[in-house]
Amino acid sequence: MPGVYDQFAMDVCFASSPQHADVLNEDFVAATSGGAVVIDGAGTPEGADSGCVHGVAWYSRAVGYALVARMAELERPLHDCLAQAIIHVRDLHRADCDLGHPGTPSSTVTAIRENGDRLDYLVLADSPLVLDLADRIEVICDHRVDAFQREMPASMRENPLGSAEYRAGLREYIAEWRRHRNVEGGFWVASSQPDAAAHALTGTVPLADVSAAALLSDGASRLVDRFGLLSWRDLLDLLDNQGPAELVRRVRDVERNTAEQYPGKAHDDATAAYCRFGRL
Ligand SMILES: [Zn+2]
Repeated sequence: MPGVYDQFAMDVCFASSPQHADVLNEDFVAATSGGAVVIDGAGTPEGADSGCVHGVAWYSRAVGYALVARMAELERPLHDCLAQAIIHVRDLHRADCDLGHPGTPSSTVTAIRENGDRLDYLVLADSPLVLDLADRIEVICDHRVDAFQREMPASMRENPLGSAEYRAGLREYIAEWRRHRNVEGGFWVASSQPDAAAHALTGTVPLADVSAAALLSDGASRLVDRFGLLSWRDLLDLLDNQGPAELVRRVRDVERNTAEQYPGKAHDDATAAYCRFGRL
């Protein structure tokens, strides 16, 4: 006789797209039969030294694959899986790179994992997890970074890359970032400090209550939380009816048509993973 959850299915689809065709995608996405991970890498602005020979895309990929491997241990809480993954990646590049450098690669991490009759989740920084629950939508996202991730100073935006004014602005921008990253009262991201994982938002919900989950980098969630063109319900419906690739296409369309209207990062890497839960 099949058990209660033997017929429970997880149906996942995802799409991921770099901000431009000629740059590396610094987002990472992975899905297994019982979980999904979306990671959005961050480093220093173009033209700045990072102390790392590998780069942000490498970091996102390395911490993503390491996390997926550690999530196999169901008895290990997700924040501990992430701490172990951060240690693994730190050890991969500590010999060649200056991990104390303020520009060392870092990333958000958003993960879900089936665990018996529960769904565990973890959200570190601002890649939203949107849970479609029986009676409500729950959005889990840590916006602490917003207070410190300000726009580039005018001296960077208005002067040529490499000019003295640009470099001065860059130093100011990096110093601001450095002061608040992975410190009490600041914001927390995956980088080279495993204790950052303990600051992730974590929780667990009954699997039977979850009809779907969307894991999004902020490049994909911007139709809702930056442009205000969709509600979270609309976004879930779009994912359900047309899939993650269509969501990314819509983001690019809006970016192309409204570049002047929304100052700041015109394009961003965009990743969406959409997971449906239910009986076959
Ligand atoms: Zn490195």
